[in-house]
Amino acid sequence: MSAEIIDGKQIAADIREELKTEVAALKERGIVPGLGVILVGEDPASKSYVSAKEKACEAIGIFSDDNRLPADTTQGQLLERVEQMNKDPKINGILVQLPLPKHIDEAAVLMAIDPDKDVDGFHPMNVGKMMVGEDTFLPCTPHGVLQMLMRSGVETSGAHVVVVGRSNIVGKPVANMLLQKKEGANATVTLCHTRTKDLSVHTKQADIIIAASGWPNTVTADMVKAGAVVIDVGVNRVEDPSRERGYRLVGDVDFDAVKEVASKITPVPGGVGPMTITMLLFNTVDSAKRANGVD
Ligand code: NAP
Repeated sequence: MSAEIIDGKQIAADIREELKTEVAALKERGIVPGLGVILVGEDPASKSYVSAKEKACEAIGIFSDDNRLPADTTQGQLLERVEQMNKDPKINGILVQLPLPKHIDEAAVLMAIDPDKDVDGFHPMNVGKMMVGEDTFLPCTPHGVLQMLMRSGVETSGAHVVVVGRSNIVGKPVANMLLQKKEGANATVTLCHTRTKDLSVHTKQADIIIAASGWPNTVTADMVKAGAVVIDVGVNRVEDPSRERGYRLVGDVDFDAVKEVASKITPVPGGVGPMTITMLLFNTVDSAKRANGVD
């Protein structure tokens, strides 16, 4: 039997509706959550991500402060803009779109963001808080994955989760969040990477597989236990002459074959993707609430 599809678009729409209601209630108290967005340069993909984030803010009533800076912006100028946003009470969240031009030290810029406005959850202070289980901004894509599991009724407590990929933005944080002693977590986690000796030995034992390798077909049907839940974080372009744009997007999982083995699976596109921006909105609203002492 074919797996149930976990519909990321629908889950994201549900969360955005909840946030819209929260933002309206905050507005009645004179609070308007604000997101400061900084884009340096002309990278087309970054431009389209930033536009999507700004549109999403607008749709739920978050004010977005759009800063498009030229590609030759110096590190000093960028840090100065970040510092202005750190001090601006109208800004609750600061988003610096990555990647930055090569002459700018990304880590230095991310470190300069006030941890109380770090809605991407990348500041080492917030990463540390997440690790020890303190309340903090959770990084958006991993948080989106946890929300998808929770909202589609997948029990993580006691489940064996195998995460494929150990990046700082997906693999490590999602593994860490799932092993916390908290609702929606409490999993036994195995974290795999390119030095893992036999990936399939691990994935075959998984109740839940989270694929974040950045390569199509990293997880194939023979690597999945019958009835497992499969979350595909990957977004890869593969050539497709039948499409006008010459490519299509696929995940890290061989979707067509794995859906015949799994019990639930996320598609690409329409799975984890829509959750990432949604959790950025969540963090921005959360930050506005914290800044104004709203529970
Ligand atoms: P990344 O920085 O390239 O990390 C990939 C990780 O996967 C690395 O840890 C790598 O191991 C591991 N890996 C690669 N091939 C593997 C294999 N065959 N077996 C086991 N491990 C393997 O990628 P990322 O930034 O985490 O992103 C992962 C995927 O998620 C990408 O497709 C990306 O586009 C997508 N993504 C999607 C969203 C979204 O919103 N949907 C957000 C972020 C990322 P080593 O450490 O040993 O090299």
